[in-house]
Amino acid sequence: MPELPDVETFKHYLDATSLHQRITGVEVHDAYVLKGVSARELARRVKGHRFESSRRHGKHLFVRADRDLWLRLHFGMTGSLRYFKHEEQAPRHTRVLFVFANAHSLAFEDQRKFGEIGLIEDVNEFLEKRALGPDALDITLSQFREILGKHRGAVKTILLNQKLIAGIGNIYADEILFRARIHPATQVSTLKEKAVTKLLRATRNILEKAIEAKADMDRMPKSWLLPHRGKGGKCPRCGRELKSATIGGRTAWFCAHCQKRI
Ligand SMILES: [Zn+2]
Repeated sequence: MPELPDVETFKHYLDATSLHQRITGVEVHDAYVLKGVSARELARRVKGHRFESSRRHGKHLFVRADRDLWLRLHFGMTGSLRYFKHEEQAPRHTRVLFVFANAHSLAFEDQRKFGEIGLIEDVNEFLEKRALGPDALDITLSQFREILGKHRGAVKTILLNQKLIAGIGNIYADEILFRARIHPATQVSTLKEKAVTKLLRATRNILEKAIEAKADMDRMPKSWLLPHRGKGGKCPRCGRELKSATIGGRTAWFCAHCQKRI
């Protein structure tokens, strides 16, 4: 499921391939992913424009097509982007296709169709309306302290709450907690100041490294939880078998030895 590092990677990909070219066509293969806009309206409003820049917040990607016109992309569970020249290179689960004047196309593909495409006029207004928290990479220590101090519950549940901190999903929440050596079920109220600082440092470190690896699972360090998570997986630090538990409705993987419960 695309989380902050994946969406940042999509942003880099879009920036490197699809900016500043006139959009000559918009083909909607499956209108299910369109939110608040019809296929006809999307085509009418975007055609003739160019994607000028992009901006990411949490798991959302916004692509500017005009002064007051932004394409809004959310990748759901299986969404991604593909830029190509020849029709036979089009991904199988293409839902929406943007065709450029240079005869290349950008496909929004999404097998399971939990992704979303919309048009908005103002990004900040959208973020406010959705009540999204600050982006996990932009958050300051004092903001982070305040969020953790104001809320109750398991630390993992707090990390996953997009309204508190935007961008972290199940996989990277586990990775961050493994790095900070904090058990995912730890109540935030019991975290000492030092642990909070450590947790934010781990958040930045993991997200930045994952972006460097282009969110490619095969390129993640072997010292991470990611290559080992799953049944029978061993902790890369102590070699003991990893454990799983349902926390906040999601499956958490962790090492009960390295991540002591407070
Ligand atoms: Zn361990």
